[in-house]
Amino acid sequence: MEPHLAILLTVAEAVSRTLDVNDVLRTAVEALTRVTGHEIASLHLLSEDGKMLHLRGERGMSPALRGVNQTLPVGQGLIGRVASTGRTVRVEKNYADPDLLPAARAAVQREHIRGFVCVPIHSRGRILGTLSLGRKTVDRFAASEITLLEATADQIGLALDNARLYSEKERQLEERKRIQAQLVRSEKLSAVGELASGVAHEINNPLTTILGQAHLILAHPQATEPVRERARIVTDEAARAARIVQNLLLFARQYPSERRPCSLAAQARRVLELKSYQLQQDNVKVVTEFAPSPYVLGDENALQQVLLNLVQNAHQAMVQIAGARVLTVRVWPDGASVCLEVRDTGPGIPEEAMPRIFDPFFTTKPPGEGSGLGLSVSYGIVTELGGRLWAENHPDGGASFRLELPAGDDAS
Ligand code: ADP
Repeated sequence: MEPHLAILLTVAEAVSRTLDVNDVLRTAVEALTRVTGHEIASLHLLSEDGKMLHLRGERGMSPALRGVNQTLPVGQGLIGRVASTGRTVRVEKNYADPDLLPAARAAVQREHIRGFVCVPIHSRGRILGTLSLGRKTVDRFAASEITLLEATADQIGLALDNARLYSEKERQLEERKRIQAQLVRSEKLSAVGELASGVAHEINNPLTTILGQAHLILAHPQATEPVRERARIVTDEAARAARIVQNLLLFARQYPSERRPCSLAAQARRVLELKSYQLQQDNVKVVTEFAPSPYVLGDENALQQVLLNLVQNAHQAMVQIAGARVLTVRVWPDGASVCLEVRDTGPGIPEEAMPRIFDPFFTTKPPGEGSGLGLSVSYGIVTELGGRLWAENHPDGGASFRLELPAGDDAS
């Protein structure tokens, strides 16, 4: 009886030292075989749906036996029956047992395994899996050995339960941490928003003056071409700053948003017109496909801002590549919605960035080039109008941004 007590003690010590499920299983099986000698031990756990048993730990198994035992159906075969009935099974000459699965029979016979015992692992009335021992000698498993195995299985059951409870607690803690971080972030955001909108209003006035003066220089009859070229740079950069200010104001929700019937195609045309010079400069070919579509209910300024952000991003993405640059903007009706797509032939959105591109202040662009506000503001505007905005990479390359807004009544 003494070695048995030693096993129990080892297992109890080992499993109470860890809260990791895999550790529990490994140490338990190890302790069992180390002390009892030449047995083959295996430990199966039930799948989530309770239909299968998965091999989670073993000692002394040949590759063939391991293969046969990897997954077992609950309710069939010797081990599967223990999992469904919760009753211990002990057999001698197990190769001759009618319950043995045919695949297992061949392996067991080849390896001269004769004695076999399998006990259920349960905890709080629930079966969690099975623990089995096999033996090559003719000695049958004694009652004391079975008691030992059952006691070990009980300990494993408890340890598994503890580990599960612990990982559930840990998950809850993680979730709480995430929510707290989110709260802190949204508080920070609203503070940033307030500050930004104050600054943005102050910047808007000088920006308008800069833009106006630069346009006057461009139109001046005495302006030489080099002077015009510089004035163009001034207008481009001032327009970029204006876009950032617009985004900041929209982000801080400082704009009263109106809802009037407006045509998505008309807004897209306006935005493309606004950007036509810069697009041309960078050899971007613009393709438009505007199918007759109903009006959408929205704020023209806000929608233009959304489209400007999408077009600007597509433009910036395509400047990075040397090949053909094509910007495609499509509008079409789809049931009770109107859809719009802005597609580019740029490098596409990196897989790791995809889940975060709509987050405020997320940018992969160098400082000074990206504020990380464009998409988050656009997303806010579109969802406020009851629509959807999402991104995917096109199978032929490049990024595609899709916008879907509920259709109004009239056709445009
Ligand atoms: P910003 O343009 O200031 O970086 P956005 O919110 O508009 O901020 O975009 C966030 C990020 O999404 C960009 O930094 C970029 O990594 C990615 N992104 C947006 N549009 C595209 C596009 N057309 N192609 C590839 N990546 C894009």
